[in-house]
Amino acid sequence: MFSFDNTYARLPERFFAKVAPARVREPRTIMVNRALAAELGVDPAELTPELLSGNAVPEGAEPIALAYAGHQFGGFVPQLGDGRAILLGEVIGKDGQRRDVQLKGSGRTPFSRGGDGRAALGPVLREYVVSEAMAALGVPTTRALAAVTTGEQVFRDRVLPGAVLTRVAASHIRVGTFQYFAARRDDEAVRVLTSYALARHYPDAVGTGNDAVALLDRVLSAQAELVARWIGVGFVHGVMNTDNTSISGETIDFGPCAFLDEYHPDKVFSSIDMRGRYAFSNQPGMAQWNVVRLAEALLPLLADDEGAAVQIAEERLDTFRPRFAAAYGRVFRAKLGLSREEDGDLALYNDLLGRMAESAVDYTVFFRRLSTATDDEIAPMFRDPAAFHEWAQRWRQRLGRESRSPAERASAMQRVNPAFIPRNHRVEEMIEAAVERADFTPFETLVRLLERPYEEQPEHAHLAEEPAPEQRVTQTFCGT
Ligand code: AMP
Ligand code: MG
Repeated sequence: MFSFDNTYARLPERFFAKVAPARVREPRTIMVNRALAAELGVDPAELTPELLSGNAVPEGAEPIALAYAGHQFGGFVPQLGDGRAILLGEVIGKDGQRRDVQLKGSGRTPFSRGGDGRAALGPVLREYVVSEAMAALGVPTTRALAAVTTGEQVFRDRVLPGAVLTRVAASHIRVGTFQYFAARRDDEAVRVLTSYALARHYPDAVGTGNDAVALLDRVLSAQAELVARWIGVGFVHGVMNTDNTSISGETIDFGPCAFLDEYHPDKVFSSIDMRGRYAFSNQPGMAQWNVVRLAEALLPLLADDEGAAVQIAEERLDTFRPRFAAAYGRVFRAKLGLSREEDGDLALYNDLLGRMAESAVDYTVFFRRLSTATDDEIAPMFRDPAAFHEWAQRWRQRLGRESRSPAERASAMQRVNPAFIPRNHRVEEMIEAAVERADFTPFETLVRLLERPYEEQPEHAHLAEEPAPEQRVTQTFCGT
């Protein structure tokens, strides 16, 4: 069983509300993530549906709902908090890492406002599939330990089966957690949270100077790195609000997320993102915007004098762009099979992206083919094959200045350009099968497939393919 060690529950009482999960009628396990259970040092057999639904609270758990605020689409909401999630406690895994174990969809809390505190089956399965796929793709992310149905109905725009996801995260501290206290002018709480977060996530930075400056610096780096990784795999988060911006640098909140099919920099999927605030290529700018909000919340701690504090914040924030550029450089060079750096590399990559956008070329299929296929095999993906050949000629010249053999280069490219991603239309099909027909086979297939996204799995070749026009998903919904 979990051996809990609950440090967050030891923080001041205004950081959370104690609350027990709601009882549900008939919990049934959909899936337990055995590999993750093993990493946490838990016997999967002990993860019963009673426990995973919140009906039984495991020994040592101290269930709490965390307080936080956040900017949602640019507008500040001073109180959000865990409205449908309950932190059971923290577990130290076999790797020595402390992780939160949280039930999502386990009933109302003092932060629920008008909500029912429940989760519908569709969003639970989506989060399970996509968060686990992100982990296998090598992108920092919260994880899914289990999903259960509750045997109860939840009421959204229609009646849906209820479910609970067990989420595992490095922590659930967000930029919005700092904003919650900053908005209340509670400098002492900001100070306590800063020391706590730094010690928990960036222990090597403790005692190197001002904790708040160190935390800002680390979060900047983590967010720059994270967004570069998202871009590498064509991920559109869709709801990069400050309450969904983790201090640990993990991807969190899979509500309206989607993966690019055809490449376009302005691609938006979320039905509520009317102005494209969180469009694919806006993500670095939005991550930076979110970190500026963290800097504002930390301002009283950065220096005694406000002018000096602002100057420190600005100096640090100015490093976001170069840090993102460095992380992005590593990502796109790897995608192109370049192990050395040359000045013209970014121009070469941008030229390719422009041509892909013009021809609406599938992002994932293209880079996977680029890893191993011949130019003549790839060129038909473009409206005018010459558009690819012109570019490919320059790319091959550039590869000529690499020292690796073509075979080494190809296998390195296959390790960063996935064959499989959670294709939007496959995710939708999977949800439909589960919700409409209680058929979890597509869910299981996707979960197994996406454990090894960089490996060819010929028996599932159709799951690598881009959607046919009638299969395309153009909009996603939060579906809370
Ligand atoms: P999200 O859109 O998932 O980032 O959630 C934003 C805020 O709404 C958070 O404070 C959530 O806890 C809250 N929330 C979302 N769905 C529900 C629900 N069904 N019941 C209660 N609170 C909710
Ligand atoms: Mg959220």
